[in-house]
Amino acid sequence: MAKLCSCCSMPAQYSLALLLSTVGMSRRIQKCSRVVLFCNDCIHALRENELWGTNALCNAFNRAYTATKQAFNERSSAPVTTR
Ligand SMILES: [Zn+2]
Repeated sequence: MAKLCSCCSMPAQYSLALLLSTVGMSRRIQKCSRVVLFCNDCIHALRENELWGTNALCNAFNRAYTATKQAFNERSSAPVTTR
């Protein structure tokens, strides 16, 4: 079955994933979003700065951000272990 564009449900030709990383930590936290699929027309619209507010992209970003934030909080609250 053909994969469909997240915006217009035409057959997808591109997939986009967001990689979110912390900066300035000794061991960086890095989370990749799920991929969001786009057709040729919609990826062009994205390039023209349209479509960045689409639900699929926002959800992908939110999940990556939430996962990063959660990992950050877990690390912050983890007891210090001596090795
Ligand atoms: Zn499309």
